[in-house]
Amino acid sequence: MDKNRAWSLLQEMSFVRVAGSKEDLKTANILKAHCDEAGVPAVIEEFEIENAVITEATLEVLEPEHCSFPVIGIGKTPNTKKDGAIGGFKYIENALDSNLTDVKDKIVLVNGPRLMPPTMKKLAEKGALGYILTGGDFYEEDSIKKELRPTSAFGDDNPLPGIKIHMDDAEKLVRCNPVKVRMVLKNRKKKETAHNVIATIEGSDLKDEVIIFSAHCDSVPYSKGSWDNATGSVTVMELMHYFNKHRPRRTMKFLWCGAEEIGLVGSRKYCETHKDELDKVIFNINFDMTGVTLGYEHVCCSCSEETMHAIQYLANIENYPLDIELGMYSSDSSSFARAGVPACTFARLNPRGGAQIHNHHDNMDHLDPDSFMITANFVAKFGDQIGNAAVNPIPRKFAEKVTKAIEEQKRFFPGAEKGEKKPSEKKEEKPAKKSAGKAAKK
Ligand SMILES: [Zn+2]
Repeated sequence: MDKNRAWSLLQEMSFVRVAGSKEDLKTANILKAHCDEAGVPAVIEEFEIENAVITEATLEVLEPEHCSFPVIGIGKTPNTKKDGAIGGFKYIENALDSNLTDVKDKIVLVNGPRLMPPTMKKLAEKGALGYILTGGDFYEEDSIKKELRPTSAFGDDNPLPGIKIHMDDAEKLVRCNPVKVRMVLKNRKKKETAHNVIATIEGSDLKDEVIIFSAHCDSVPYSKGSWDNATGSVTVMELMHYFNKHRPRRTMKFLWCGAEEIGLVGSRKYCETHKDELDKVIFNINFDMTGVTLGYEHVCCSCSEETMHAIQYLANIENYPLDIELGMYSSDSSSFARAGVPACTFARLNPRGGAQIHNHHDNMDHLDPDSFMITANFVAKFGDQIGNAAVNPIPRKFAEKVTKAIEEQKRFFPGAEKGEKKPSEKKEEKPAKKSAGKAAKK
């Protein structure tokens, strides 16, 4: 482990790296070059993503008094008809059921930068015409306020057109008590290419059992993504260097996922493309945001309670202060858990008022090399243990809480299941699975 090497890669990666942009490929090439230089072969896997091009987005209050607000469109939601959607207005707060009793023929304002598919579906069923989300915050500098971050809705079958308004304007909008409003949205889909990078260190004798260390390497628009998630990417790179020197018995893969910020697309794509190899993957250890000076170590475990307790036990032994929970983290570990692979995400999270992500402020300012090494050092020890244990120590099962969270996610985001085996395929593959498992243990 080398904090200076890590720091210099962090600096090298601190630029806006939006999925599908030319910087997406540049990022993949940087990561591959570092692997190649270390003598660990890396491959870049391309995949197609769907971004949105917004051609028009407006919001006007027609009654009681005419005024208009700057908005941006939410991609991959349906276009309004030519003259726009015209209707009443309601502020529906967090869209609880009691907020939704009278949304028919209205355009609704909802708190938050995203609308989850079940809420959108409910709104459509209750007859809403479109929705407005909020972005930014009251206390930003004026230079950033102009730059509402572009957003696309998840999935392909979104029933309602959406636009986004700045928090400041949302307040003004509510205070002018609109009776009649008009929104216009025009957007189209655009196919682009994103990339995953994969480096492999083959195990010395238990090579058929695999541990995957992962981190997403894309950022959102306007954000250099130094913390989210150049730090995680560099943590994976440091672990690659470490295990290159300390060869493990099990195979280790180092995976940098593209297009995480638009819905975990890279990791889902990886699980889809490599679904026949997932039976061999005993654990996925993901990193999303490490290295912040004022922070605290956190791990979200999408695995069994036994594994969570084992991580806690090792943390205690190592005097590594760790905030630990069971659940599904909104990062690439979730794609693995959904595909049946036990997983976890390590993060060094911020106290309230501390470092920020998904805007201009996410740069190197609140990171430092010593804080950066805290997570990497612990996971190197953990990796040593699971990489070299005589018997696979990670039970292939999930705590009840995790299973429930997985089922809920699948219900909300059914589109993400392409990477999964169909039930019929699963049955057929059973005998092969067993023998592969036995062979691995020999
Ligand atoms: Zn992230």
